[in-house]
Amino acid sequence: MNEPMLTIVVPCYNEEEVLPETIDKLRGLREELIDERLISSESALLFVDDGSNDATWDIIYKASLRYPEVKGLKLARNAGHQNALLAGLLAAKTRSDCIVSIDADLQDDIAVIRDFVKKFQEGYEIVYGVRNKRDADTFFKRHTAQWFYKLMRAMGVDLVYNHADYRLLSRRAVEELERFEEVNLFLRGIVPLLGFRSATVHYDRKERLAGKTKYPLKKMIAFALDGITSFSVTPIRMISLIGLVSFFISLLFGGYFLFLKLTGHTQTGWTSLIISIWFLGGLQLIAFGLIGEYIGKIYKETKRRPRYIVDLDLFNLWKPQQRSPS
Ligand code: UDP
Ligand code: MG
Repeated sequence: MNEPMLTIVVPCYNEEEVLPETIDKLRGLREELIDERLISSESALLFVDDGSNDATWDIIYKASLRYPEVKGLKLARNAGHQNALLAGLLAAKTRSDCIVSIDADLQDDIAVIRDFVKKFQEGYEIVYGVRNKRDADTFFKRHTAQWFYKLMRAMGVDLVYNHADYRLLSRRAVEELERFEEVNLFLRGIVPLLGFRSATVHYDRKERLAGKTKYPLKKMIAFALDGITSFSVTPIRMISLIGLVSFFISLLFGGYFLFLKLTGHTQTGWTSLIISIWFLGGLQLIAFGLIGEYIGKIYKETKRRPRYIVDLDLFNLWKPQQRSPS
């Protein structure tokens, strides 16, 4: 294979403090990789301004005038990290063989992009950057992140542990990603669903170069909730489960209370009250759960996710390679 065309996509939201340095460092890395003949000289850097209200776009625009390899994409309003990232991936896909996404604050060691590209050359279409240790993150962030991964796993969502949105995707992977049309985008959950050959590369996560996190607690919680509810109907199932349990409890206690009543050990009226409360409560919860199951189905239908993704098609191989319009 010739050297692949690489695009590095960087979502930026109010990153004026770090951006100049980020641009410099990524340009430097790009030069190195070109010199090492790992990537083609047409490789580019794409900065996506996610509706920032500081000088972020100014910096991107000026850099793009100065350096031909620096490109910019400006979103009209703040669409959120995941959407900004997708916008960048889709904008870059037609002129890239592979795309690396990385945060603007360079907490992720950019040197491992070299390993990403090497893996890509070996035939991996998805390469996950995985953090070794998270010393640089606060105690709070580290632990909430751990819980988050555990909870997601428990809910049946396949996630790569300690992997954020630092990864390489082949052009084909991005094209398939485009077929996931859901509005609530949770890339970390979707990328493993693609099923293409994948590898992981480990690195140490550093502290933010400058500026503050764009993920305050409120956004973190929203992100976690989004991740869970976009991938799992387990919470609905729990309602059914609780309903079933209280229903059986009502049967057990019902028998016991009736026995007390018959042997004359209770207040008048109490038995029928307590039995009906538990019995009806249980029935109602089961009914909720049942309705929830249907809503869960509707919800899955509305996502219109692709039902399968083809890896190799030997049957149609003799036809000219079809790519989606580019
Ligand atoms: N970001 C974005 N839109 C947003 C919030 C964040 O594009 O609405 C970008 C941000 O500029 C950064 C990346 O997403 O490049 C990750 O954000 P941050 O580093 O603040 O998150 P943390 O590392 O603290 O989880
Ligand atoms: Mg960060």
